[in-house]
Amino acid sequence: IPSPTIQLNSGHEIPQLGFGVFQVDPVETQRIVADALEVGYRHLDTAKIYGNEAGVGRAIAESGIARDELFVTTKLWNDDQGDPEGAFQRSLDELGLEHVDLYLIHWPVAERGTYVDAWKGLQAIAESGRARSVGVSNFQTKHLDAILAEGGIAPAVNQIELHPAFQQRELRGYLAPKGIHVESWGPLGQGKYDLGELTGFQAIADAHGKSVQQIAIRWHLQEGLIVFPKSNSKERMAQNADVFDFELSAEEMDAIRSADQNRRVGGHPDEIN
Ligand code: NAD
Repeated sequence: IPSPTIQLNSGHEIPQLGFGVFQVDPVETQRIVADALEVGYRHLDTAKIYGNEAGVGRAIAESGIARDELFVTTKLWNDDQGDPEGAFQRSLDELGLEHVDLYLIHWPVAERGTYVDAWKGLQAIAESGRARSVGVSNFQTKHLDAILAEGGIAPAVNQIELHPAFQQRELRGYLAPKGIHVESWGPLGQGKYDLGELTGFQAIADAHGKSVQQIAIRWHLQEGLIVFPKSNSKERMAQNADVFDFELSAEEMDAIRSADQNRRVGGHPDEIN
């Protein structure tokens, strides 16, 4: 996959297009991730709560791909915010890795009052070299303000719900000048709405001879977002990566930008506690 890379504030590079494994059955994960690696994905996004880190790790081990050619992300689950070091070590053990490329706080769960200390824990993990970069997920500006006020290193990324019907312009406007890159989760709207029903979308897909999913992925890439669509099917994995032989024009990018409906398909960060 000829994915461009993006340089994070840690100095490390992340492949802009990756593969996510949310809701991938732990029993099937090894096979599905092996398929993704065969298709050519080199960036994998998992989490402790997905329950499938071990399958991701087995697929990596069996692939024979050099560790430094892979970019692996996992996440600190909410219940573990009081012990990031212990939780991180358990994730490394499950993955069978000596380091991850990116470790994220999965949700702020602000009512628990633990995310600022958890962030200090992630900074220490980054300093130890066992996570090359660290960041956050589902953080709003108020949560970012709170951790940035502590000083130290800034998060490399904020991984947030982002797709054509929910484009997060305001939060992106806050993050960009701080050098915090945006990762789009649910980049295809998690299949919860038909991309083809958004104004202009189907016509753009037809003009390029591509699926509406490929148009969405190409849009994320041209927006400078990091994106890792999920599919259990090898054919769709290949389709989702076949987005480097065409370009959306400035007009098409604008048309997709105006299809924003401020429509969430997943949980609101204030409601996940
Ligand atoms: P997604 O937007 O990638 O959609 C996945 C769904 O789209 C699949 O169920 C599949 O049926 C469908 N699909 C995929 N490719 C298709 C194609 N070519 N044609 C038609 N349908 C297709 O949703 P996602 O998996 O939730 O998001 C991607 C990744 O983001 C996850 O796997 C996970 O790694 C991450 N994520 C993170 C959080 C978080 O809180 N940080 C939350 C959700 C997801």
